Amino acid sequence: MKLALIGFGQAGGKIVDEFLAYDDAIGGGFVEAGIAVNSATTDLQGLENIPKRNRVLIGQARVKGHGVGADNELGAEITEKDIDEIQGAIDRIPIHEIDAFLIVAGMGGGTGSGGAPVLATHLKRIYTQPVYGLGILPATDEGGIYTLNAARSFRTFVREVDNLLVFDNDVWRSAGETVAGGYDRINAEIVERFGLLFAAGEVNEGDHVAESVVDSSEIINTLDDGVSTIGYARETVDTAGDGLLSSFRTSDDFDEGAATNRMTSLVRKAALGRLTLPCDVGSADRGLVVTTGPPEHLNRKGVERGRQWLEDETGSMEIRGGDYPLPDRNEVGAIVLLSGVTDVPRIDQLQQVAIEAQDTTEAVRARAEDDFASLVDAGGELDALF
Ligand code: GDP
Repeated sequence: MKLALIGFGQAGGKIVDEFLAYDDAIGGGFVEAGIAVNSATTDLQGLENIPKRNRVLIGQARVKGHGVGADNELGAEITEKDIDEIQGAIDRIPIHEIDAFLIVAGMGGGTGSGGAPVLATHLKRIYTQPVYGLGILPATDEGGIYTLNAARSFRTFVREVDNLLVFDNDVWRSAGETVAGGYDRINAEIVERFGLLFAAGEVNEGDHVAESVVDSSEIINTLDDGVSTIGYARETVDTAGDGLLSSFRTSDDFDEGAATNRMTSLVRKAALGRLTLPCDVGSADRGLVVTTGPPEHLNRKGVERGRQWLEDETGSMEIRGGDYPLPDRNEVGAIVLLSGVTDVPRIDQLQQVAIEAQDTTEAVRARAEDDFASLVDAGGELDALF
């Protein structure tokens, strides 16, 4: 499906920048346009693939290009004020060509956390296309303010978008990694999962036509509303057509049964392995299974069995399935999109920690005010000058 991608804040901008490179690398054609919005000049300058004219600086009058710190209320405020600047960039996109908007933002910071929901409200008011969010949750050790920001942004963003796709940094970091190195790896994981899904729904002219192709309307119907998570599993395969051995291969010795079994177990691995947002798979309301890889390794039976398995696992009658052929790859994969998930322990935990952080912040602020008053007032025995 064709998307207008809008990266809000530093994380959002970097991820959209990566999406552009990924779309190019796989010849996906799912990106119609990439826009970055930020209140920090340096973040916008660091981008590589988003064209300069699509980089929008907001809040200049207020923060002078220095960012909002981690103040997401300020992020929301400057977005509302400068919404016309963002609209100016959106006006250059041929909107009739796109199937949906996707707003990407780190939810723990300030600009993206506060601005992304404001932009979602604005876009929904103007356009008929669905507006989706891709929200990145902060790692648990980032601290109280990031957790509080994320919990408040999550609550608002979910309400304003048609569907919020979530990626949890906490589940995906590795011990011993530098922050920057970690983000590079994590961002590559993000764009592969979500990129493959969106590319699957975009069949270009000259593409190998799948046996049961995924249509953008199937992705849209699966996303419908609520919160979504993605699972992905892949495996290297021996590909026909690359090298000497393949010339001895006939279609008869290709084991169809083995290909079907492999696909079915890949679907299980994808759904039961590490999800972008861990949840109880059984709580999903809708699902979509997409198998990817060289066409000869994809078969209708494999998808169908995987789809049926997910139906049993979720108890949902709304599980869709399809293929996304990638002729030049030597691996097969399965993407499982679970939508309308409700049993998500990480969100409960995030909200709990956020409430504690909010209470602590209020108590500390009240105490600090009292302490300050008694520091300055000297017990009320001195008169101020005026
Ligand atoms: P903003 O610029 O004020 O919107 O804030 P940032 O985007 O810098 O940070 C918000 C949150 O996003 C941080 O708390 C991190 O959890 C996360 N984050 C920052 N940079 C990256 C990144 O490159 N990749 C990922 N996955 N997360 C990031």
